[in-house]
Amino acid sequence: MSQEPIATPVHDEQPRKVKTNLLGLSASRIGDFLESLGEKRFRGTQILKWIHQYGIDDLNEMTNISKSLRESLADVAEVVMPEVVSCQDSVDGTRKWLIKVDGGSCIEMVYIPERDRGTLCVSSQIGCALDCSFCATGKQGFARDLTTAEIIGQLWIAAKSFDQFDTKNPRRVTNVVMMGMGEPLMNFNNVVDAMSLMMDDNAYGLSKRRVTLSTAGVVPELDKLGDVSDVSLAISLHAPNDELRNQLVPINRKYPLVDFIGSAKRYLDKMPDNRRKVTVEYTLMDRVNDRDEHAKELSVLLRDLPCKINLIPFNPFPGSEYKKVTKVALNRFRDILQNDGYTVTVRTTRGDDIAAACGQLAGEVNDRTKRQERYKKRLQEQSEEQVVKIVG
Ligand code: SAH
Repeated sequence: MSQEPIATPVHDEQPRKVKTNLLGLSASRIGDFLESLGEKRFRGTQILKWIHQYGIDDLNEMTNISKSLRESLADVAEVVMPEVVSCQDSVDGTRKWLIKVDGGSCIEMVYIPERDRGTLCVSSQIGCALDCSFCATGKQGFARDLTTAEIIGQLWIAAKSFDQFDTKNPRRVTNVVMMGMGEPLMNFNNVVDAMSLMMDDNAYGLSKRRVTLSTAGVVPELDKLGDVSDVSLAISLHAPNDELRNQLVPINRKYPLVDFIGSAKRYLDKMPDNRRKVTVEYTLMDRVNDRDEHAKELSVLLRDLPCKINLIPFNPFPGSEYKKVTKVALNRFRDILQNDGYTVTVRTTRGDDIAAACGQLAGEVNDRTKRQERYKKRLQEQSEEQVVKIVG
């Protein structure tokens, strides 16, 4: 009987050293890192500028740093970008990237050009653990938090693709919203570090008004946010009372509306500039949360919160159980709030031909929950029912 050859183990292979990815280090962290190597902190500022202002990801090209430091740095550090898998352009100028991250999952990022600005919608997690009933991301389940490098890497990729690192070119990304896949406050430290790079004058230099964090209401983390950051805040409300919000946004069962709104108010109170306002996001779904009484209840609920209201017509996705709000209901809802003195904007749907609109970002999530599987099964059953209906 012939025997299978047995592979002899190789013993002389060096274990691969885990290097620090400089892309993900905020100003203070890169300073600490260099100090730990016995170097001066200001070298960190130089590296930060190379990466985030000039778009350089090769240590050898950082020419104001001595060759010997570059060489010793290369033993322990590297600059690694997430990998772009594909990039699609919508007829309306919206651009969507599919970006591969370690572990085989993919996240999505969207750029939305407008007349006077360009907004990048950045993801904070692979999938999302919150499972809001109307959001495509939730249906994909959850894999893990993104690292700081993977979050800021999204902005780097967009800036590179618009040739924005060339200072002669206009800045195309003028605003960043943490409204892609995931709940940013569930990935607190990495998101805060990434946002500090977005606002750092040695990196992207965006003002605090142009960086927005959107949350579904993780109250303890929101209470911490105001102590370490002063970005603009958007709160995803979607319902004017707990009974309805419990169904749409399950985290409401843990942190009900009164706590969430109280926490948003405390956030504003921590800001030195008392003219700042919270943006209230309200996704309108046909005959779910779009009636006159909902608008009136919302108006009362928000009475003491300095805010502006952003109405988002629901964007359908495969298998979604809700319908888009009608134009009539949308206008009535807006008018009721406006008559009560609120500033109300309606988010126009952008990039829906490439599934890049709000709530349509799905990516490819190596789900660690069973949610994606259950969702796919339900989709399958639905399409089988349809076939039976058509055939029958
Ligand atoms: N987890 C964060 C950020 C991601 S969602 C949050 O909940 O705020 C960004 C915004 O898009 C939220 O206001 C979200 O509720 C909204 N959204 C989600 N699904 C949507 C859909 N199908 N149609 C329209 N807006 C949606």
